[in-house]
Amino acid sequence: MADACARSSRPRADVRLQPITKTVPANILRFAHAAGVTSFGENKIQEAAGKRDALSDLPIRWSIVGHLQTNKAANAARFADEFHALDSMRLADALNARLARDGRTLDVYVQVNTSDEDTKFGLHPDALLPFIDTLPRFERLRPRGLMTLAAFSDDMVRVRTCFRLLRRLRDEAARRDSRIAELSMGMSGDFEMAIEEGADVVRVGQAIFGRRPTPDSHYWPGLVGA
Ligand SMILES: *Cc1c(COP(=O)(O)O)cnc(C)c1O
Repeated sequence: MADACARSSRPRADVRLQPITKTVPANILRFAHAAGVTSFGENKIQEAAGKRDALSDLPIRWSIVGHLQTNKAANAARFADEFHALDSMRLADALNARLARDGRTLDVYVQVNTSDEDTKFGLHPDALLPFIDTLPRFERLRPRGLMTLAAFSDDMVRVRTCFRLLRRLRDEAARRDSRIAELSMGMSGDFEMAIEEGADVVRVGQAIFGRRPTPDSHYWPGLVGA
């Protein structure tokens, strides 16, 4: 991360590392916390809730980064501190209702499908600005920026195109709602390029915690060969 910041003349402090801990057991996360990691990112809400209960004695910031079905919104709203995959008004409504009941707020990133692959969640780029215009009505949601998963491809030009598109969309969205400020993009395989293209948050799992036993298709249905 420091190298990528230096290459792009960005202060290292401008880019936040969000460790992604899916499949990493709670007892290992205790060691991570002892080593200074204070925020854990999870893709699946049940897994996150289980770890949260197991680690309730530790002050941890929970970040939910994966697609959330509306019927699981209430569970996420109970304890999540930030959510990176907001992609529908129904979901925004369900989160907002539960947050209001609990007197909580939630930092959110709006997910955009920048790769034009139908295996991924997120709003179509054309649907983004109308969606941004609805955000003020969800008073418990604190919009922070946009999030994307780049194309799963060895073609780095294609990957970079996804990051550039998200940045351009962020610039447009920020003119409608200045709270849309950050870019959540970049994972183990592409975080350096994401930083070069302006990422403010990189979501990194395997490069920190080692290879996952589950294939990526478990998280992104429809994906083949990953
Ligand atoms: C798992 C995951 C990541 C991190 O992927 P790694 O390959 O482990 O770095 C980032 N974003 C989301 C949404 C994820 O589900």
